[in-house]
Amino acid sequence: MKRILITGGAGFIGSHLCTRLIEEGHEVICLDNYFTGSKTNILHLLGNPRFELVRHDVINPYHAEVDQIYNLACPASPIHYQYNPIKTIKTSVMGAINMLGLAKRVGARILQASTSEVYGDPAIHPQPEPYWGNVNPIGIRSCYDEGKRCAETLFMDYHRQNGVDIKIIRIFNTYGPRMHPNDGRVVSNFIMQALRNEPITIYGEGQQTRSFQYVDDLIEGMVRMMNESGDFTGPVNLGNPHEFTIKELAEKVIEMTGSHSRIEYRPLPSDDPRQRQPDIKLAGEKLHGWHPTIELEEGLRRTIAYFQTLI
Ligand code: NAD
Ligand code: UDP
Repeated sequence: MKRILITGGAGFIGSHLCTRLIEEGHEVICLDNYFTGSKTNILHLLGNPRFELVRHDVINPYHAEVDQIYNLACPASPIHYQYNPIKTIKTSVMGAINMLGLAKRVGARILQASTSEVYGDPAIHPQPEPYWGNVNPIGIRSCYDEGKRCAETLFMDYHRQNGVDIKIIRIFNTYGPRMHPNDGRVVSNFIMQALRNEPITIYGEGQQTRSFQYVDDLIEGMVRMMNESGDFTGPVNLGNPHEFTIKELAEKVIEMTGSHSRIEYRPLPSDDPRQRQPDIKLAGEKLHGWHPTIELEEGLRRTIAYFQTLI
């Protein structure tokens, strides 16, 4: 049994990770400021004596004796991370410094939830880890992209300078139950719109692509990276390489929900990446053959069932 700190533990991905680690018998400290997460996401764990909830903002130092840290605290959807962009950068950068400082002091292993956004609007397709990316440093997505890039730099520097035991994963678009219904991300937006028979809002012409990973596949990859990757620090891509256009996703959601929604086209936000697909060869090699097992249709079925309970 290990004592494990999860920052951003009350968020979408964090709540699934808390659940998995509690089920494995560990002690979990879930730290969150509830900016985009909520207690409802971890309600099912609250009575468990091995589960502890802490209201805290990662831009301030935190101390606890722990064996492992998963650093997930950061708003992840464009409307939330653009709401207060300066705070988003502080969360990524000061949060990384504070958590790396903690890992250094207590000798904990620390994993950073980085993102495919470090590749920006990629000029190489699919994206392998050695690709340095194509990121606009002064655009509306930069607070998130550059904040996450700087966090990766900090992780590597704490590792090289102080020998901190680090792991970096680059998460590609992940979806599933407990996504925030109003966070503006494409899967939650389309499902909520379809279930309410409201127009499905496609930004641009819907020809941009994304590759959607079901949350359970990500959690499996994260836990393997933390525990079964030896000296490998990453970064490593974790995503589902099956790529869809946004229009295809809209049509699939309409079909699966039996919705009467029509498609409505809206302007494309600036710096919206045109294509995205992870190269997951490295993850397969380093994480004992890890690969996604839940395809879009099955993942959507489970996610639609969750959103139905909210309506
Ligand atoms: P989320 O918004 O549901 O979760 C983020 C959590 O962090 C929330 O509970 C929020 O309240 C908390 N938080 C935000 N700022 C904080 C702060 N300053 N101090 C403490 N807590 C804070 O998003 P998610 O999809 O679960 O994403 C989790 C992590 O994974 C994020 O770091 C995100 O960048 C990364 N990621 C997610 C995706 C994805 O597709 N979901 C893709 C790439 C990377
Ligand atoms: N998108 C869309 N309609 C929506 C929400 C998003 O067409 O209602 C598009 C968005 O422009 C982007 C893609 O879907 O091209 C994925 O958006 P999301 O915010 O989910 O993730 P990210 O852009 O960060 O990959």
